[in-house]
Amino acid sequence: MDLKDRKTGGLSTILIVFLIGYVASDADFGYDSGEQMGPEHWAEHYQACAGKYQSPIDIDEMWVKRTSLPPLEFEGFYDLPMQTKITNNGHTVLLELNQTQEVVVKGGPLNGSYTFAQLHFHWGQNDSVGSEDKINSHSYSMELHMVFYKTEYESVKHAMDYRDGLLVLAIFYEAGDLDNDVYAEITDSLPKIETPNTSYNLRKGFTLRNFLPHNVQRYFTYYGSLTTPPCLEIVTWIDFKHPTRLSHRQLSAFRKIRTKGGLLTHNYRPLQPLSDRVVYYNAEDYIPKSGTLRTAASLLLMSTATITAFVML
Ligand SMILES: [Zn+2]
Repeated sequence: MDLKDRKTGGLSTILIVFLIGYVASDADFGYDSGEQMGPEHWAEHYQACAGKYQSPIDIDEMWVKRTSLPPLEFEGFYDLPMQTKITNNGHTVLLELNQTQEVVVKGGPLNGSYTFAQLHFHWGQNDSVGSEDKINSHSYSMELHMVFYKTEYESVKHAMDYRDGLLVLAIFYEAGDLDNDVYAEITDSLPKIETPNTSYNLRKGFTLRNFLPHNVQRYFTYYGSLTTPPCLEIVTWIDFKHPTRLSHRQLSAFRKIRTKGGLLTHNYRPLQPLSDRVVYYNAEDYIPKSGTLRTAASLLLMSTATITAFVML
């Protein structure tokens, strides 16, 4: 996930200055292993990037713990935003919505409600790579991150101080031959924002429900981190199991986005160790043998019981 830009605009940069004390010009991260601020160098500037509970991870379905959680609830997902801004921030393509009412997720593994901030994409050099999390070592062609902050923390900025501060809903994409009409306005707009730090207001926009898979109750969930610096371990991840189809042509449009140093052909972080974490798989038709349902918050806490404190950078 990428917090470089969000509703608070340049505030994220200020926040990073606050967190690490300074921002060197070379601390503008990249994704190539050879480059000065490639993923293997992130931890030199952002200590948390070397943490124990980092994202992304490889989710092995043989080892997930099946569970049955209360239904996820979605509020405001059917509202058409008054305005939708699409931005190339040099690291990703990011969408911000001007909503008339708050967009909120609760239920499932969540303790409390989470408010929508922004959504963005991760993609790869070709259709065989691009997703950040993998399932059974399989990469999907692209991954969407819908970023939410815990409502009681009031903003992404404040939520970054808490280990339950953020929720990311992740949606995987696989390549097909047919264009996906839902994404046409986005992919058609990409040529207008090829240059880094440019934005464009979509004419029509869409509802957030358009991006969710039909089945929103089957998902993997685990505790992890931002997948971009400062890599804070404050994220409850919910990865929907069922992927969405996009055409080869639509996927390739993302690879024409430019970053400071040239084409942004890929923006997915390499896999990180699972450590002692447990990944849960929610199957809505699954009934535990014990007959007792734990809340997912307690399940997630159990899996991260060794975390003693939030690591300050
Ligand atoms: Zn992301």
